[in-house]
Amino acid sequence: MRDDTLGVHAGRGGLGQAHVPPIDLSTTYKTPDLDAATQSIDHMAAGKNPSGGSIYQRLHNPTVARFEQALAALEGAEQAVSFASGMAAVTGALLAAKMVGSHIVAVRPLYGGTDHLLCSGLLGLDVSWATADTVAQHIGPDTSLVICETPANPTLQLVDIGAVVEQAQGVPVMVDSTFATPILQKPLEHGACLVLHSGTKFIGGHGDVMAGVIGCDGVWADRLRQVRILTGANLHPMAAYTLHRGLQTLGLRVRAAQDNAQRLSAWLQSHPSVARVRYPGAPGGDPLGLIGRQLKGPGSLVAVDLVGGYEAARSVMAAVQLITPAVSLGSCDTLIQHPAGLTHRIVGEAAKDASGIGPGLLRLSVGLEDVDDIWADLSMALQKALVRAA
Ligand SMILES: *Cc1c(COP(=O)(O)O)cnc(C)c1O
Repeated sequence: MRDDTLGVHAGRGGLGQAHVPPIDLSTTYKTPDLDAATQSIDHMAAGKNPSGGSIYQRLHNPTVARFEQALAALEGAEQAVSFASGMAAVTGALLAAKMVGSHIVAVRPLYGGTDHLLCSGLLGLDVSWATADTVAQHIGPDTSLVICETPANPTLQLVDIGAVVEQAQGVPVMVDSTFATPILQKPLEHGACLVLHSGTKFIGGHGDVMAGVIGCDGVWADRLRQVRILTGANLHPMAAYTLHRGLQTLGLRVRAAQDNAQRLSAWLQSHPSVARVRYPGAPGGDPLGLIGRQLKGPGSLVAVDLVGGYEAARSVMAAVQLITPAVSLGSCDTLIQHPAGLTHRIVGEAAKDASGIGPGLLRLSVGLEDVDDIWADLSMALQKALVRAA
């Protein structure tokens, strides 16, 4: 089945007469058959799904499992494991990798929180920082995971997943594919072993639910579930229901927002306040020719470097009326934010410079409004910045 069909139907089997999946909120389940329950516990402690029914919500929940099934189907993964947030999923993956070896290779730029977690030393990992073309020289006997993100946050730089996989020399590669969604990119088809999403973004799609989810093979899924049971970073069943519903409109939303972003990117190109548009669909935005080969389309995140630097960025953030000045992305409404001051505030100055996260950079998550209304608001705010600078 194709993506739009999977989005609507996956994870919805065995519903009987019901049209939508039930939300199972039980934290505990009746276990009158002690032998069967014990066996089920043994399965789950090894990271497997329960052999019988559920025992306790932290170990397994049927509503959460339905969402995971659907996401796995969309990513072409054997299984998926969900977490309470994108960062809980990143943490889960790093702890699961640590079961194998404590050296990680991380390709910058990464989401600010991921970057900070890796730099913090909190998880006791040995981290080597690489660029997409220097991964090979960092791989060692104790390397358990290579992490990259594409399109990258916030500069929309694209990474050739297949090339990173080749350089990793058999070490599993995890791709944070939050910006692409499974509609535009399927990292596992290019040799990645794990694909991670902050479900808070496009999958939820309405700015009202936090989640993380990882698609992978059965071996990694077992490790991830073991970590999840031990650390308790579970997805709540209400959140899982919301995310599962979000998948039904994911394709429609992603394509509609992308259409708007393509038009805005072209208009931004010729605005006098804009020094550079960073967008995979803009001239120079896809130097490796990955659109069509790895990425179905340029997506709906657009970043711009403003001629007027920080002052101009501050002025635009204050001037927008329709566009929401806020972090996050993938909502129905258009959001604008300042990476250097907000999402990437805690990334070191040198790393910010190297990744091109300057004081005049603004990132737009283009929404589903009529594109003419978005442009009227944005061009008004950009014009104000220009007048102020003059
Ligand atoms: C938001 C985000 C995360 C973290 O997800 P949360 O749900 O906020 O914890 C990770 N990676 C990327 C690319 C993101 O945009």
